[in-house]
Amino acid sequence: MKKNNTSILIIYTGGTIGMVHDRGTGSLVPIDFKHITNHVPELDKFGFNLHSVTFNPVKDSSNIDPSTWIKMAETIVKNYDRYDGFVVLHGTDTMAYSASALSFMLENLAKPVIFTGSQLPIGLLRTDGRENLLTAIEIAAAREKGAALVPEVCIYFDNELTRGNRTTKYSAEHFDAFNSPNYPPLAEVGLHIKYNYDDIHYPAKNSKLVFHKSFDTNVAILKLFPGINRNFVEAVINTMKLKGLIIETFGSGNAPTYKWFIDDLREFIDRGGIIYNVTQCHGGSVEMGLYETSRELLAAGVVGGRDITSEASVTKLMHLLGRYKSKQEVIKYLGKPLAGEISGQG
Ligand code: ASP
Repeated sequence: MKKNNTSILIIYTGGTIGMVHDRGTGSLVPIDFKHITNHVPELDKFGFNLHSVTFNPVKDSSNIDPSTWIKMAETIVKNYDRYDGFVVLHGTDTMAYSASALSFMLENLAKPVIFTGSQLPIGLLRTDGRENLLTAIEIAAAREKGAALVPEVCIYFDNELTRGNRTTKYSAEHFDAFNSPNYPPLAEVGLHIKYNYDDIHYPAKNSKLVFHKSFDTNVAILKLFPGINRNFVEAVINTMKLKGLIIETFGSGNAPTYKWFIDDLREFIDRGGIIYNVTQCHGGSVEMGLYETSRELLAAGVVGGRDITSEASVTKLMHLLGRYKSKQEVIKYLGKPLAGEISGQG
């Protein structure tokens, strides 16, 4: 196959796409990248310079944490000038967390970073991995007038390209496993790849890639439910060294108005903590003050998360706590889109 000059780096971190059944336990375990390429001989037909990096060890994505996000971002930064785009092969379970984290780490990104994986291992006849991988590579390579068509951290899965930090995994069964409830797809794939140019973010001309690699994991998520017990809330709030607490609230950011609940939250804020209000709903936005049941949160100093996903909220909070010393700065940037993760300007 005739080569053209396009170079793509595939970063294989693990996930179902490269898994096989362990003979002893019967469970799915990840294996090497060669196993994937053996099942996709079509890769040669692109004519691109395709290179790969395999993480050691490759992981089920449940075992991925900030140290692996840093390793992924470092691999991209180190190879940034040598490649036109990057494809990250990753387990689907925490893919939206990793894609969100990388979107905050790689400021002014001007090249595509496309996460993909599969619901069925690549060795199976009905696998979705082959199509996902081939199209992710095609999107990572897509250029117009000398510039990348989608210079963002995205997830490509089952015919849809979505912004990584807007995406959430919603199905453990369907090939159509991901959803971007509050932001339109960046591209839709059928006979053609239809790019939604108006929804894609392009960096300012001549801006330089800035790499942020600090995370502070002193955060927690408290999902509210009717009947929530004070002992439980206080155990979470009194977690040692806790700096940032996400409360997953009802509807448009509502929570119980019990006195003990509001007092406990206020006390955490008064001793320097940050509380970030993110809705449990899969679509829509937090609007504090709309109902009586969120007005008190606002008065206590809780910060509204607008239409952020749960995955983007926790990675953004860890990122900002790692990046800024002052609570005021963290609160200021929670309210502003860093990489298109929330709607509006801030
Ligand atoms: N458990 C797998 C993972 O996230 C699931 C998948 O890849 O679909 O690594």
